[in-house]
Amino acid sequence: MIYLNGEFMPIEKAVIPVLDRGFIFGDGVYEVIPVYSRLPFRLGEHLERLQASLDGIRLENPHEDSAWQEKIGRLVELNEPEDQSLYLQVTRGVARRAHAFPARTTPTVFIMSSPLLPPTPNQINNGVGAITAADNRWARCNVKSTSLLPNVLLRQLAIDAGCAETLLLRDGQLTEGSASNAFVVSNGILLAPPKSNLMLPGITYDLVLELAAANNVAHELRNISEAELAGADEIWITSSSREILPVTTLNGRPVNDGRPGHVFKRMHALYQEYKAQVMRTAHG
Ligand code: PMP
Repeated sequence: MIYLNGEFMPIEKAVIPVLDRGFIFGDGVYEVIPVYSRLPFRLGEHLERLQASLDGIRLENPHEDSAWQEKIGRLVELNEPEDQSLYLQVTRGVARRAHAFPARTTPTVFIMSSPLLPPTPNQINNGVGAITAADNRWARCNVKSTSLLPNVLLRQLAIDAGCAETLLLRDGQLTEGSASNAFVVSNGILLAPPKSNLMLPGITYDLVLELAAANNVAHELRNISEAELAGADEIWITSSSREILPVTTLNGRPVNDGRPGHVFKRMHALYQEYKAQVMRTAHG
Protein backbone atom coordinates (compact mmCIF):
# COMPACT_ATOMS: atom_id res chain seq x y z
CA MET A 1 0.00 0.00 0.00
CA ILE A 2 1.16 3.50 -0.79
CA TYR A 3 -0.03 7.04 -0.11
CA LEU A 4 -0.63 9.42 -3.03
CA ASN A 5 -2.18 12.87 -2.71
CA GLY A 6 -4.56 12.14 0.13
CA GLU A 7 -5.37 8.50 -0.63
CA PHE A 8 -4.03 5.12 0.39
CA MET A 9 -4.01 2.52 -2.39
CA PRO A 10 -2.11 -0.49 -3.75
CA ILE A 11 0.97 0.66 -5.67
CA GLU A 12 -0.43 -0.87 -8.90
CA LYS A 13 -3.28 1.67 -8.74
CA ALA A 14 -1.02 4.69 -8.23
CA VAL A 15 -0.52 6.95 -11.27
CA ILE A 16 0.69 10.50 -11.74
CA PRO A 17 0.17 12.75 -14.77
CA VAL A 18 3.05 12.90 -17.26
CA LEU A 19 3.31 16.66 -16.72
CA ASP A 20 4.27 16.25 -13.09
CA ARG A 21 7.31 18.46 -12.59
CA GLY A 22 8.98 15.63 -10.75
CA PHE A 23 8.88 13.62 -13.99
CA ILE A 24 9.67 16.53 -16.33
CA PHE A 25 12.34 18.39 -14.32
CA GLY A 26 13.18 16.29 -11.28
CA ASP A 27 11.62 19.25 -9.46
CA GLY A 28 11.10 17.68 -6.06
CA VAL A 29 12.66 16.50 -2.83
CA TYR A 30 12.52 13.24 -0.90
CA GLU A 31 13.31 11.39 2.31
CA VAL A 32 14.05 7.76 3.13
CA ILE A 33 13.01 6.77 6.64
CA PRO A 34 13.74 3.36 8.20
CA VAL A 35 11.03 1.77 10.33
CA TYR A 36 12.07 -0.74 13.00
CA SER A 37 9.35 -2.80 14.71
CA ARG A 38 6.77 -0.42 13.17
CA LEU A 39 8.50 2.60 14.68
CA PRO A 40 9.77 5.25 12.22
CA PHE A 41 13.35 5.90 13.34
CA ARG A 42 14.35 9.54 13.98
CA LEU A 43 11.17 10.77 12.27
CA GLY A 44 11.46 14.26 13.76
CA GLU A 45 14.93 14.65 12.27
CA HIS A 46 13.76 13.41 8.85
CA LEU A 47 10.82 15.84 8.84
CA GLU A 48 13.17 18.66 9.80
CA ARG A 49 15.48 17.81 6.91
CA LEU A 50 12.46 17.55 4.58
CA GLN A 51 11.53 21.11 5.58
CA ALA A 52 15.10 22.27 4.88
CA SER A 53 15.03 20.61 1.43
CA LEU A 54 11.63 22.17 0.64
CA ASP A 55 12.96 25.57 1.73
CA GLY A 56 15.99 24.92 -0.48
CA ILE A 57 13.81 24.57 -3.59
CA ARG A 58 11.28 27.23 -2.50
CA LEU A 59 8.37 24.83 -2.22
CA GLU A 60 5.86 25.25 0.57
CA ASN A 61 5.55 22.27 2.88
CA PRO A 62 2.14 20.76 2.04
CA HIS A 63 1.70 19.35 5.56
CA GLU A 64 2.32 20.14 9.19
CA ASP A 65 4.55 17.65 10.99
CA SER A 66 1.51 16.23 12.79
CA ALA A 67 -0.16 15.47 9.43
CA TRP A 68 3.02 13.84 8.11
CA GLN A 69 3.21 11.74 11.28
CA GLU A 70 -0.38 10.68 10.90
CA LYS A 71 -0.01 9.66 7.22
CA ILE A 72 3.25 7.85 7.89
CA GLY A 73 1.80 6.04 10.91
CA ARG A 74 -1.19 4.90 8.89
CA LEU A 75 0.96 3.70 5.98
CA VAL A 76 3.19 1.70 8.31
CA GLU A 77 0.07 -0.01 9.72
CA LEU A 78 -1.27 -0.78 6.23
CA ASN A 79 1.90 -2.65 5.29
CA GLU A 80 2.88 -6.06 6.55
CA PRO A 81 6.57 -6.02 7.48
CA GLU A 82 7.60 -5.03 10.98
CA ASP A 83 10.69 -3.38 9.50
CA GLN A 84 10.05 -1.10 6.54
CA SER A 85 11.79 1.50 4.46
CA LEU A 86 9.61 4.53 3.78
CA TYR A 87 10.24 6.65 0.70
CA LEU A 88 8.55 10.04 0.75
CA GLN A 89 8.57 12.47 -2.18
CA VAL A 90 7.13 15.94 -2.72
CA THR A 91 7.20 17.52 -6.18
CA ARG A 92 6.12 20.93 -7.46
CA GLY A 93 3.03 19.31 -8.95
CA VAL A 94 1.49 19.18 -12.40
CA ALA A 95 1.73 22.14 -14.80
CA ARG A 96 2.30 22.96 -18.47
CA ARG A 97 6.00 22.46 -19.16
CA ALA A 98 7.88 25.68 -18.47
CA HIS A 99 10.95 26.16 -16.31
CA ALA A 100 9.43 29.00 -14.27
CA PHE A 101 7.49 28.00 -11.17
CA PRO A 102 3.80 27.58 -12.04
CA ALA A 103 1.56 30.23 -10.51
CA ARG A 104 -0.68 27.76 -8.74
CA THR A 105 -0.12 24.04 -8.42
CA THR A 106 -0.79 21.51 -5.76
CA PRO A 107 2.38 19.63 -4.81
CA THR A 108 2.38 15.91 -5.51
CA VAL A 109 2.88 13.92 -2.31
CA PHE A 110 3.87 10.28 -2.53
CA ILE A 111 4.87 7.88 0.25
CA MET A 112 5.68 4.21 -0.28
CA SER A 113 6.80 1.42 1.97
CA SER A 114 9.22 -1.34 1.02
CA PRO A 115 10.56 -4.14 3.18
CA LEU A 116 13.68 -2.88 4.96
CA LEU A 117 16.71 -4.80 3.75
CA PRO A 118 19.30 -4.45 6.49
CA PRO A 119 23.01 -4.88 5.77
CA THR A 120 24.00 -8.54 5.55
CA PRO A 121 26.23 -10.19 8.20
CA ASN A 122 28.81 -10.64 5.43
CA GLN A 123 28.85 -6.88 4.75
CA ILE A 124 29.19 -6.12 8.46
CA ASN A 125 31.80 -8.78 9.20
CA ASN A 126 33.92 -8.44 6.06
CA GLY A 127 33.19 -4.92 4.88
CA VAL A 128 32.45 -3.69 1.38
CA GLY A 129 34.50 -2.35 -1.49
CA ALA A 130 34.51 1.27 -2.61
CA ILE A 131 36.09 3.27 -5.38
CA THR A 132 36.76 7.00 -5.59
CA ALA A 133 35.58 9.40 -8.29
CA ALA A 134 35.46 13.12 -8.87
CA ASP A 135 32.39 14.69 -7.27
CA ASN A 136 30.79 16.26 -10.33
CA ARG A 137 27.42 17.04 -8.73
CA TRP A 138 25.95 20.52 -8.31
CA ALA A 139 26.94 22.81 -5.44
CA ARG A 140 23.75 22.26 -3.42
CA CYS A 141 24.19 18.68 -2.28
CA ASN A 142 22.66 19.60 1.09
CA VAL A 143 19.24 19.60 -0.67
CA LYS A 144 17.81 16.09 -0.84
CA SER A 145 16.62 16.53 -4.40
CA THR A 146 15.03 13.84 -6.56
CA SER A 147 17.33 15.04 -9.38
CA LEU A 148 19.73 12.17 -8.74
CA LEU A 149 21.23 11.54 -12.18
CA PRO A 150 24.79 12.43 -11.09
CA ASN A 151 24.44 10.16 -8.04
CA VAL A 152 23.03 7.38 -10.23
CA LEU A 153 25.95 7.62 -12.66
CA LEU A 154 28.49 7.77 -9.83
CA ARG A 155 26.97 4.75 -8.06
CA GLN A 156 27.03 2.77 -11.31
CA LEU A 157 30.81 3.27 -11.48
CA ALA A 158 31.04 1.34 -8.19
CA ILE A 159 28.72 -1.39 -9.44
CA ASP A 160 30.74 -1.73 -12.65
CA ALA A 161 33.86 -2.18 -10.49
CA GLY A 162 32.14 -4.83 -8.34
CA CYS A 163 31.98 -2.41 -5.40
CA ALA A 164 29.26 -1.14 -3.08
CA GLU A 165 29.87 2.61 -3.10
CA THR A 166 31.67 5.46 -4.84
CA LEU A 167 33.39 7.90 -2.50
CA LEU A 168 33.47 11.40 -3.91
CA LEU A 169 36.35 13.86 -3.99
CA ARG A 170 35.90 17.53 -4.69
CA ASP A 171 39.01 19.69 -5.00
CA GLY A 172 41.00 16.85 -3.44
CA GLN A 173 38.73 16.57 -0.38
CA LEU A 174 36.31 13.79 0.57
CA THR A 175 32.69 14.95 0.47
CA GLU A 176 30.51 11.81 0.88
CA GLY A 177 29.39 8.70 -1.01
CA SER A 178 26.96 8.59 -3.95
CA ALA A 179 24.19 7.67 -1.47
CA SER A 180 25.91 7.73 1.92
CA ASN A 181 28.05 9.84 4.20
CA ALA A 182 31.67 8.90 4.77
CA PHE A 183 33.81 8.61 7.90
CA VAL A 184 37.52 7.92 8.24
CA VAL A 185 39.58 6.78 11.21
CA SER A 186 43.07 8.24 11.10
CA ASN A 187 45.62 8.00 13.94
CA GLY A 188 42.88 6.65 16.19
CA ILE A 189 40.57 9.63 15.63
CA LEU A 190 37.20 9.37 13.94
CA LEU A 191 37.02 12.03 11.23
CA ALA A 192 34.14 13.32 9.15
CA PRO A 193 33.83 16.21 6.73
CA PRO A 194 31.98 19.13 8.36
CA LYS A 195 28.47 19.80 7.04
CA SER A 196 28.38 22.13 4.07
CA ASN A 197 26.53 22.67 0.81
CA LEU A 198 28.76 19.94 -0.67
CA MET A 199 27.17 17.03 1.22
CA LEU A 200 23.83 15.80 2.49
CA PRO A 201 23.45 16.27 6.25
CA GLY A 202 22.81 12.60 6.98
CA ILE A 203 20.54 11.52 9.81
CA THR A 204 22.89 8.57 10.40
CA TYR A 205 25.93 10.92 10.23
CA ASP A 206 24.38 12.98 13.04
CA LEU A 207 23.62 9.89 15.09
CA VAL A 208 27.15 8.50 14.72
CA LEU A 209 28.58 11.82 15.89
CA GLU A 210 26.10 11.93 18.80
CA LEU A 211 27.12 8.41 19.83
CA ALA A 212 30.81 9.32 19.50
CA ALA A 213 30.33 12.36 21.75
CA ALA A 214 28.27 10.45 24.33
CA ASN A 215 30.75 7.55 24.54
CA ASN A 216 34.12 9.31 24.47
CA VAL A 217 35.05 8.19 20.99
CA ALA A 218 37.69 10.71 19.91
CA HIS A 219 36.35 12.50 16.86
CA GLU A 220 36.86 15.61 14.81
CA LEU A 221 34.99 17.37 12.01
CA ARG A 222 37.43 18.53 9.39
CA ASN A 223 38.29 18.19 5.73
CA ILE A 224 39.80 14.85 4.71
CA SER A 225 42.26 14.87 1.83
CA GLU A 226 42.51 12.23 -0.85
CA ALA A 227 45.90 11.17 0.60
CA GLU A 228 44.43 10.82 4.09
CA LEU A 229 41.57 8.74 2.69
CA ALA A 230 44.03 6.49 0.84
CA GLY A 231 46.09 5.98 4.01
CA ALA A 232 43.17 5.67 6.45
CA ASP A 233 43.10 3.12 9.28
CA GLU A 234 39.38 2.70 8.69
CA ILE A 235 36.75 4.00 6.26
CA TRP A 236 33.01 3.75 6.89
CA ILE A 237 29.90 4.66 4.96
CA THR A 238 26.63 5.51 6.70
CA SER A 239 23.02 5.86 5.62
CA SER A 240 19.56 5.17 6.95
CA SER A 241 19.28 1.94 4.97
CA ARG A 242 22.88 0.72 5.25
CA GLU A 243 23.39 1.92 8.84
CA ILE A 244 27.19 1.83 9.26
CA LEU A 245 29.32 -0.30 6.96
CA PRO A 246 33.07 -0.71 6.97
CA VAL A 247 34.85 -0.13 3.66
CA THR A 248 37.64 -2.69 3.51
CA THR A 249 38.94 -2.12 -0.01
CA LEU A 250 39.42 1.20 -1.74
CA ASN A 251 40.16 1.29 -5.45
CA GLY A 252 41.04 -2.40 -5.28
CA ARG A 253 43.56 -2.05 -2.42
CA PRO A 254 42.92 -3.16 1.17
CA VAL A 255 42.11 -0.44 3.68
CA ASN A 256 44.74 -0.99 6.40
CA ASP A 257 44.72 -4.80 6.92
CA GLY A 258 41.56 -5.18 4.85
CA ARG A 259 39.41 -6.06 7.88
CA PRO A 260 36.72 -3.98 9.64
CA GLY A 261 38.51 -1.91 12.29
CA HIS A 262 38.01 -1.80 16.05
CA VAL A 263 36.54 1.71 16.03
CA PHE A 264 33.94 0.47 13.55
CA LYS A 265 33.11 -2.51 15.76
CA ARG A 266 32.65 -0.25 18.77
CA MET A 267 30.43 2.21 16.86
CA HIS A 268 28.41 -0.57 15.27
CA ALA A 269 27.68 -1.99 18.74
CA LEU A 270 26.76 1.48 20.09
CA TYR A 271 24.44 2.01 17.13
CA GLN A 272 22.65 -1.33 17.59
CA GLU A 273 22.33 -0.69 21.33
CA TYR A 274 20.88 2.77 20.65
CA LYS A 275 18.30 1.32 18.24
CA ALA A 276 17.31 -1.37 20.74
CA GLN A 277 16.95 1.23 23.48
CA VAL A 278 14.74 3.48 21.33
CA MET A 279 12.47 0.54 20.58
CA ARG A 280 12.33 -0.55 24.22
CA THR A 281 11.34 2.98 25.25
CA ALA A 282 8.67 3.24 22.54
CA HIS A 283 7.12 -0.17 23.07
CA GLY A 284 7.39 -0.11 26.85
N1 PMP B 1 24.46 11.37 1.25
C1 PMP B 1 23.70 11.07 0.19
C2 PMP B 1 24.05 11.64 -1.14
C3 PMP B 1 22.60 10.21 0.35
O1 PMP B 1 21.82 9.90 -0.70
C4 PMP B 1 22.34 9.64 1.63
C5 PMP B 1 21.21 8.66 1.82
N2 PMP B 1 19.97 9.24 1.72
C6 PMP B 1 23.15 10.00 2.70
C7 PMP B 1 24.21 10.87 2.48
C8 PMP B 1 22.91 9.46 4.08
O2 PMP B 1 21.84 10.12 4.70
P1 PMP B 1 20.94 9.39 5.80
O3 PMP B 1 21.86 8.94 6.88
O4 PMP B 1 20.01 10.44 6.25
O5 PMP B 1 20.26 8.25 5.12
